[in-house]
Amino acid sequence: MNNGILDTHYATIVDKIDNGIVMLDQKNNIILWNPFMEKHSGIKAEEINKKNIFDAFSYLSKSWLELKLQSVRLLKSYSFISWTQRPYLFQFKATTGFIEDQLTYMYQDSTFFPIMDNGKIHVCIIIKDVTENVNFSNKIEEMKDITRTLVEIANYDALTSISNRGYIESQLMQEFKRAKRYKSEFSLLMLDIDHFKSINDVHGHLAGDDVLKELSTTVTEQIRDSDLFGRFGGEEFIVILLNTSEDTTIIVAERIRKAVEQLTTTYKSVNINITISQGFIQYSPKIKDYLQMLHDADLALYHSKKNGRNQTSQFKDNKCLSILSD
Ligand code: GH3
Ligand code: MG
Ligand code: MG
Repeated sequence: MNNGILDTHYATIVDKIDNGIVMLDQKNNIILWNPFMEKHSGIKAEEINKKNIFDAFSYLSKSWLELKLQSVRLLKSYSFISWTQRPYLFQFKATTGFIEDQLTYMYQDSTFFPIMDNGKIHVCIIIKDVTENVNFSNKIEEMKDITRTLVEIANYDALTSISNRGYIESQLMQEFKRAKRYKSEFSLLMLDIDHFKSINDVHGHLAGDDVLKELSTTVTEQIRDSDLFGRFGGEEFIVILLNTSEDTTIIVAERIRKAVEQLTTTYKSVNINITISQGFIQYSPKIKDYLQMLHDADLALYHSKKNGRNQTSQFKDNKCLSILSD
């Protein structure tokens, strides 16, 4: 359909190009419909010539598209619509059949621009098939989801959903470096369930698992979102209290201990109560590395166990001190 606007060279390009080209006159009647549009719509140029675009395609949003065409004519400027704003302008079937779970419709980017013709302003619309790009970006999103899941599996404990040992240790290492560089303060609290073996022996391993889950929830409730919490071993956990002074660490540690003491886990109608023993160490520039912090917090925890359990101890100035509860 070459109505004199295009010379033969341009007409060849319009015929061969792998984009849709549509031209509308001032009344939005179609005056150019290239082979791409014929192929994907199944409508020949002769059939659609001079037809109003809104009569030919009733699914088009008239109010929106009329405004778009009007602004192109008034402003005499380009306008672009990405598939992310509107998946497509024309409802064509997708042709990327080789991709699994392919998209049903052809996704399109559309460019509108004005063409002056003896005082009249036509609008040319270029349709670009971007289905493969969309497929590709969907695949990338899927990959991101898979990566996220893998990261979760790698870093989080399956039973309690809190950080696992590898992850919490790497976080401790980071915090240690940060504290050294920025002279910030933080503390490391280690806690262990008292006589947990007997909980398993009396109530069964599944009951023990429930206790571990409830304990994780309780501790999470007692710390700030910015604090770090992880499962260090079977029934041993660590909390990294960020930007926290020694006095505050004592308050938080005792709050955690008392909250656990108050916690009742009900398994098959049987109530199970537990207590925990804790040991903590406050970061100081004198400490060699994060491993030393772990070692010293563990010494303090052992001190609590030895002293009768259900209590908190601190490792300070090369000795273990009991924290006296009020
Ligand atoms: P203490 O007061 O000295 O800490 O005594 P304890 O019995 O808590 O310590 P011990 O180290 O003797 O026992 C720890 C128990 O924790 C033994 C182990 O079966 C149990 N445990 C470790 N991981 C899990 C788990 O994932 N689920 C359950 N149910 N039990 C676990
Ligand atoms: Mg224990
Ligand atoms: Mg233990």
